[in-house]
Amino acid sequence: MKLDLNIQPLSSWIKTGKEPLVIAGPCSAETEEQLVATAHLLAKTGRVTALRAGIWKPRTRPGEFEGIGSIGLEWLNRAKEETGLPTAIEVATAKHVEEALKAGVDILWVGARSTVNPFTVQEIADALRGVDVPVMVKNPVNPDLSLWIGALERINNAGITKLAAIHRGFSSHEKTAFRNEPMWDLAISLKTLAPHLPIINDPSHICGNRELLGYVAQKALDLDMQGLMIESHIDPSVAWTDAKQQVTPSSLVELIERLTLRKPDVQGNELKDKLAELRNHIDKIDDVVFQKMAERMQIVEKIGNYKKENGITILQVNRWDEILNKRVSYAKALKLSPEFAEKLLELIHSESIRKQTEIMNKDQAGQAQEKLTHV
Ligand code: PEP
Ligand code: MN
Repeated sequence: MKLDLNIQPLSSWIKTGKEPLVIAGPCSAETEEQLVATAHLLAKTGRVTALRAGIWKPRTRPGEFEGIGSIGLEWLNRAKEETGLPTAIEVATAKHVEEALKAGVDILWVGARSTVNPFTVQEIADALRGVDVPVMVKNPVNPDLSLWIGALERINNAGITKLAAIHRGFSSHEKTAFRNEPMWDLAISLKTLAPHLPIINDPSHICGNRELLGYVAQKALDLDMQGLMIESHIDPSVAWTDAKQQVTPSSLVELIERLTLRKPDVQGNELKDKLAELRNHIDKIDDVVFQKMAERMQIVEKIGNYKKENGITILQVNRWDEILNKRVSYAKALKLSPEFAEKLLELIHSESIRKQTEIMNKDQAGQAQEKLTHV
């Protein structure tokens, strides 16, 4: 299934010459001097295509700095006039949209806390109807692909065709090295469903620190994402918001220069042949994996029938523990990651349970169906 989004290419609304495409700027516009000076340093790097800054900030607790507000729109215009950088801000209400459009902001984005709420997204979409402005939609705070897609659809249905998604990671109760877990597979699923939708990666909000930015940015480029949004502040140590994750414009350049750019398509016949040979090999192995899986499921069916005849429960925890331990050690010896082995086994096991449950309940389901047809 593919998403039915009507999208114009990225190059129709943002300069795409620079590789990689970088949108940078402070988390928040704090003072006119801070914003304009940061913009100048960013423009001077020659690596930045657009200037970002939050002027209305969604904060978790009241009483924290909630953004400088509308006055920031004037500062952004000054920064744009002096540097030539187009501007990008977050909008979360119809009023934000109106003010941003009136001030001539070039690109709008919907924040993660807004994407979770269809009422909010619809309000923003309605305010955008009939307007030709580029909009980027951040993934929702929680790992729910449908919410992300829903928000993109609402904005697109309002007639916005200059559309992109921003991958900024997902909230998770587990404490890891990341502020927001990247959950790359969700971004990959979106890319698979909407191959023409540009995805911009936001390493700053994924990492929550400076140390991992380069690693995340590189991974995003290797997954063929179309650009990066990175928070940059003239003096991160005194930033009013997200101080730990912002980088100076000069550190930003260093980070960008360390990135390796790879191509999604293979060039050169020799490389193409080599890749084709390896892919052919993978295809054959995948065929065997599926064949073996089908054989395994046939045995599962036999076991299901046997358990049913003998009144044995489907799940025997000891047996499952034994399988898990044995297979994960085996996988480790084969140099497979234990996490991968465990995930794969759980998937296979849940399908086995589903099949056996079907077998156990076959007659009951049949009887229930019969009763229904006899009333
Ligand atoms: C931001 O970009 O500063 C921001 C608030 O991001 P998010 O919506 O991803 O939390
Ligand atoms: Mn921020």
